Amino acid sequence: MDENITSVLSEKRTFSPSNDFVKQANLNKAEYERLILKAKTDFEGFWTELAEKNIFWFKKWEKVLEWNEPFSKWFIGGKTNISYNCLDRHLEKKSDKKALIWIGENGEKREITYKELFNEVCRFSNALLKLGVKESDCVVIYMPLIPEAVISMLACTRIGAVHSVVFGGFSKEALADRINDSKAKVVITADGGYRRGQVVPLKLNVDEALQRCSSVEKVIIVQRTKNKIEIKPERDLWYHELTADSSLENKAKELDSEHPLFILYTSGTTGKPKGILHTTAGYLLWTTVTTKWVFDIKDSDVYWCTADIGWVTGHSYVVYGPLSSGATSLIYEGAPNYPDWGRFWEIIQENKINIFYTAPTAIRAFMKAGVEWIKKYDLSSLRLLGSVGEPINPEAWMWYHENIGRKKCPIVDTWWQTETGGILISPLPGITVTKPGSATFPLPGIFAEVVNQDGNPVPPEQGGFLVIKKPWTSMLRTVYGDDERYRQTYWKRIKGAYFAGDGAKKDSDGYFCLLGRVDDVIKVSGHLLSTMEVESSLVSHPFVAEAAVVGYPHDIKGEALCAFVVLKTVEALHAAPLLAEELKNHVAKEIGPIAKPDQIRFTESLPKTRSGKIMRRLLRDIASGKQTTGDTTTLEDISVIEKLRENEL
Ligand code: ATP
Ligand code: MG
Repeated sequence: MDENITSVLSEKRTFSPSNDFVKQANLNKAEYERLILKAKTDFEGFWTELAEKNIFWFKKWEKVLEWNEPFSKWFIGGKTNISYNCLDRHLEKKSDKKALIWIGENGEKREITYKELFNEVCRFSNALLKLGVKESDCVVIYMPLIPEAVISMLACTRIGAVHSVVFGGFSKEALADRINDSKAKVVITADGGYRRGQVVPLKLNVDEALQRCSSVEKVIIVQRTKNKIEIKPERDLWYHELTADSSLENKAKELDSEHPLFILYTSGTTGKPKGILHTTAGYLLWTTVTTKWVFDIKDSDVYWCTADIGWVTGHSYVVYGPLSSGATSLIYEGAPNYPDWGRFWEIIQENKINIFYTAPTAIRAFMKAGVEWIKKYDLSSLRLLGSVGEPINPEAWMWYHENIGRKKCPIVDTWWQTETGGILISPLPGITVTKPGSATFPLPGIFAEVVNQDGNPVPPEQGGFLVIKKPWTSMLRTVYGDDERYRQTYWKRIKGAYFAGDGAKKDSDGYFCLLGRVDDVIKVSGHLLSTMEVESSLVSHPFVAEAAVVGYPHDIKGEALCAFVVLKTVEALHAAPLLAEELKNHVAKEIGPIAKPDQIRFTESLPKTRSGKIMRRLLRDIASGKQTTGDTTTLEDISVIEKLRENEL
């Protein structure tokens, strides 16, 4: 891409945090300014200070950073342990505090204190050691969202094993690919998990996946659903039997700062998933610090991030960030609309949730379901809201603000990636004046910029590439087993900077606005348009619930715009021929004739990854009449593609 992205959307609404929020915030303006300055003038000193204050070390490091672009090592010579930081260090003061609140899809509830979680993790660590799991061995975790999944992750970190969590909704093929890529020795799974009232046959998937995996020696099974499963006696072990006589005494291993922590595969939105490798100390530091700054965690808070542990959000902001901060983290096993669309709000009411972190895809689904589901519940415990995963359209932001936040809660729109390990660009809730649709500013220590092809900053209001110019502690270390792919994907496109793959602009006040994937940018009559802006304009129409915009070849314009549109109600479809025209004109009026879609296609749903992101690359194939190409292993529902093809005009 050799030109700049034309940005057409302009947001004027601003929201300041209330005085009450400001007064109690973990990070205040003076401290924020000091941190920004410190990071600029004494980069290593900045990270030293954070590492001294926020992490327990068995042994202090000798060197803060070794930077050999694109490879970084942080806190060299230091020794720490993540499980120790998440559990042992809280026992003195918080042993009876709830660490986890677990809600099963069928209404069960378990509350687990820090002391209990510590005991369970020690017990399971000993069991893994007894099985012969060694430092740096890889353990795949393929589980429903139950406490044993968190216990498994923490036990791995305790003994220095490397975990790779595979989302429990993935197929046996996706599971086998990940097991083979990570060369896992052990798989931890469950007999089944509940999803929308059905039992997901996890163990059966493991059995079938393992037919084409040779590295796995043992399979550990948690009993969850008690459905009938086959046991291979020489390979399979029940979790409860294995841990029954395990000792509660387990000393956390003193691990090197750069000890490998986990491999996690990206969502597959733009192509074949990449196995992202994170290491111990730097990752722990940044997830801990950002939990404190961005989520403003207090000892009294009940915090709920709705992500599954199969995604990086579940790693960093369900498990490691909150537990390292000594917080109470709620996990819910089931679907947001099971048994009905009130489920999330009921959980918030019952558990008096204070901080709620979810994804735009969920927010748009709740908008479509209607506010009557929300009105039934008391959401007054909420004090802070967060969003992650995709750009949040201003319309969805406003809806979230008004209906869930009751106009009182700051919203943190957090930009980050599997690769970045933790949040890099986000409002700070007690400081930042927010604008709908903007992730606002890079956090202290993060040197983000919007640049052109040559790596030079672009002027305000102009789109470009989002890059990070200096290393940060929780950056990925490599693509597992493929240093060259790491270099090519992230470090070749823009000289001297980490290239995130996303387009962005800074507005005239310096606010960062994410414009979607650079690969999704559309070139119409010589202008590069961001999909996100056209989609946002469509979503601002009262009939539209969700939209995805892609380009297809056009003789005159180069590329033309095709918009796939999901309507809020089926009735709206009766007016479809007229509505299509109306929507085209709506976009032309809102952001200009250049962005007017050539085609509008109504659909019941959009192709999404299992983490809820729109897969525009598949829509691009459909709009240009091509066969579906590329990786579809992380697609949520393949029948969506078939239906879209049937509807082809
Ligand atoms: P793949 O890399 O395999 O294509 P993916 O990029 O969807 O998959 P993730 O690491 O889960 O995998 O997602 C990170 C991406 O999500 C970011 O690069 C960005 O495009 C998008 N994203 C996350 N948070 C935000 C946000 N607050 N605003 C805009 N975009 C966001
Ligand atoms: Mg990505």
